[in-house]
Amino acid sequence: MQRGLKLTPVRRRILEIVWRAHGPVGAYDILAELAKERAKAAPPTVYRALDFLIDAGLVHRIDSINAFIGCDKPARAHIAQFLVCRKCHRVMEIDAPGINRLLAEKSLAAGFRIEPTSLEIKGLCGECEDA
Ligand SMILES: [Zn+2]
Ligand SMILES: [Zn+2]
Repeated sequence: MQRGLKLTPVRRRILEIVWRAHGPVGAYDILAELAKERAKAAPPTVYRALDFLIDAGLVHRIDSINAFIGCDKPARAHIAQFLVCRKCHRVMEIDAPGINRLLAEKSLAAGFRIEPTSLEIKGLCGECEDA
């Protein structure tokens, strides 16, 4: 794994669960999956591991739908931009460095330090729009 990242078995397993979901997944879905293999799995275990994976840039939190998603460009730190379908909760990460550059510029001018975060843009995905 990049940057010599140390993953404990639980963290690695949770990362696998998030990745395998191929879409946003809730903390309690992760817990349910983990509990099949680890009788002692508890919410704090899951939340601590998710915090670690988020800090490492491997997973993003989607606040507006209270779910987590694997990052497909984990090699570098970035403010993630997501298109979130308000109907089916499908999530797409878009890569628009121009948006981040502009944000950095504007926040600097305002004397404001942005913390690692996700931009969530609500709308309708192609399938829901057609339906
Ligand atoms: Zn990302
Ligand atoms: Zn949709």
